[in-house]
Amino acid sequence: MTQERLLDTHCHVSAYDDPVAMLGAAEEAGIGVVAVTEDPDEYRRLKTRLGRREHVDVAIGLHPLRAASFGPNDLARFFRLLPQAKWIGEVGLDFSRAGAGTAKAQQKVFDTVLAEAPRGHHPLSVHSRGAEKEVIQKLAEAEAQAVLHWYTGPLYLVDEAVKSGLYFSLNIAMTRSRKFASLVRAIPRERVLLETDGPFAKVQGRAAHPHELGDVAEVLAQAWGTDIREATKAVIANQNRFLAKS
Ligand SMILES: [Zn+2]
Repeated sequence: MTQERLLDTHCHVSAYDDPVAMLGAAEEAGIGVVAVTEDPDEYRRLKTRLGRREHVDVAIGLHPLRAASFGPNDLARFFRLLPQAKWIGEVGLDFSRAGAGTAKAQQKVFDTVLAEAPRGHHPLSVHSRGAEKEVIQKLAEAEAQAVLHWYTGPLYLVDEAVKSGLYFSLNIAMTRSRKFASLVRAIPRERVLLETDGPFAKVQGRAAHPHELGDVAEVLAQAWGTDIREATKAVIANQNRFLAKS
C-alpha cells in the first residue's frame, strides 16, 4: 500500500508527557509515526493505550542498552507478539561507553531477532552506536530490510550499508551536527528516510516532535539543491520502496 505522507520512522512515543496530544498534532500535520518501543511490555502497554490509529504503527523492540536485563521470557514474549506488529524497533547494538559492558548480551539478543524473525515481514529500525561495522555486517548477512537510525559511524561504512540494501533515517539533531554535510553527501538520495528520535533528540533544547518532520525535509532540500516539495516527494518515494519489501 503506498503512502502519501512523510513517516517518522523512529519516535519514542511513550516517553512524551502527552503521547495522545503529540500524535494528534502529527496526524493534523499529515505525518505518519512509527512508535518504537524498548521491550515487549512497553509495546503491549502502548498498543493498549493508543488503540487502532490509521497512521501510527507501534513497533516491537528489544533495546540494546537493556539487553542484559532480558531473559528467555522477554524473548519468548517478543516472538509471541511479533506477528501483530508491522515494524521491529528499537533493536541493535551499542558498543559505546554506555553499552560496552553488555556487548555479549546485546549480540545474543540481536542475533536471535535476526535469526528467528520471519524474513521479509517486518522492517527494522536499528541502533548502531559504536557498533556500526558489526550491525551492518549482521544485517547484510540476514538480508534484513532495515533502516539505520541516527547513524553516527564512519563515512567509509556508508557504502557498505548501501550495498547491503540498508536505508538511513535522519533527524533534526543530526542536521545540526558538523558531520551532517559529509554524511548527506555519502548517502544516496534514494536511501534516505526521516525520523525524530523524539523526545530524546532535541531542537534548541526542547524535544523534537513528529509534526515538525517537515523541517528535516527542508534541510535536506537545501543539501540536495532542490525545494521542499521535491525533497518530500523523494523521501515519500523512498518510504514506499522500502516498505514494499515487506
Ligand atoms: Zn531511539
